[in-house]
Amino acid sequence: MEALRSLEGARVEEDFSLSRISWVGTKGYARWYVKPYTVEALAKVLLLVQERGLPFVVCGNCSNILWGDGFFDGIVIDTRELKRWKIEERLVIAEAGVRLGELVKDTCECGLSGLERLWGIPGTVGGAVVMNAGAYGACIGDLVEWVRVWREGTFLLLSRDELNFGYRSSNLKQCIVLEVALRLRKDDEVSKISLEEVKNARLARLPKGKNLGSVFKNGDTFFAGRVIEEMGFKGYSIGGVRVSERHANVFISEEGATASDYVRLINLVKSSALKQKGIRLVEEIVYAGSFV
Ligand SMILES: Cc1cc2nc3c(=O)[nH]c(=O)nc-3n(C[C@H](O)[C@H](O)[C@H](O)COP(=O)(O)OP(=O)(O)OC[C@H]3O[C@@H](n4cnc5c(N)ncnc54)[C@H](O)[C@@H]3O)c2cc1C
Repeated sequence: MEALRSLEGARVEEDFSLSRISWVGTKGYARWYVKPYTVEALAKVLLLVQERGLPFVVCGNCSNILWGDGFFDGIVIDTRELKRWKIEERLVIAEAGVRLGELVKDTCECGLSGLERLWGIPGTVGGAVVMNAGAYGACIGDLVEWVRVWREGTFLLLSRDELNFGYRSSNLKQCIVLEVALRLRKDDEVSKISLEEVKNARLARLPKGKNLGSVFKNGDTFFAGRVIEEMGFKGYSIGGVRVSERHANVFISEEGATASDYVRLINLVKSSALKQKGIRLVEEIVYAGSFV
């Protein structure tokens, strides 16, 4: 498509192997891959997809996305070059592609606190806000002041009251996040957890091997990992995908793992939980691309 090929301010590739961005090595393809270098270039891509009604997926670091093994006849829009951020007083304003880890480290070094518990979540700011990522009792939604988005062809500034943050959810799933403002605190205002404590706690629990973090959400009355463990799935595998022995809600990808191995294992665990325990497990991971 000429309009995409000649787009300025973005890297554009055709017949793109999704294994290059898949966190767990799955092997689908996308017709187009676009990586805008500026928010303005991203805006041009979004206007184009809207005008032509093209299917598209926006991604950050893909740390929560299971890409299908098939051919996605659409556009993958990668935000990771949108990585400018600044601090205005205690407000951190970051473009969608800023790495969360970088922001945690740098804001701590600037004497600001609030993000420490999110250390080690391997996402971008955009992906984290959409998913309301969190850990150790904190989630990014608690810090959000406003979000600049593209929704149904319009650019909007949404305040936190409009975002409906819940456990690993927000009403941003229909939006493209361009920029996020996070309200942090001065170090001395709260008794804060140190970055070292979070690092040690995380590293002690971290399953080894390629994975997408927690596959399922916890429920109000259960931990998904405990449910899966109680059903005896630890170490169980289908094809190249195995339930971690360390943490049953994390599935590890071995050499040759396919998206359909993931889907088969996920479906087996879901149907077993329903049959054996009457529990309806809901995925935290997101499916994107084409599943064969
Ligand atoms: C080892 C590991 C550990 C993890 N630990 C945690 C944890 O402790 N807590 C936790 O909450 N999560 C955790 N995760 C999951 C994941 O890292 C988070 O959900 C993260 O915030 C996703 O960010 P991302 O940039 O990778 O998003 P992606 O995976 O790229 O995308 C996730 C979703 O957000 C959408 N999206 C991404 N960017 C945008 C944008 N700019 N605008 C609109 N939509 C967008 C995508 O379309 C997709 O639906 C972990 C994952 C891994 C691999």
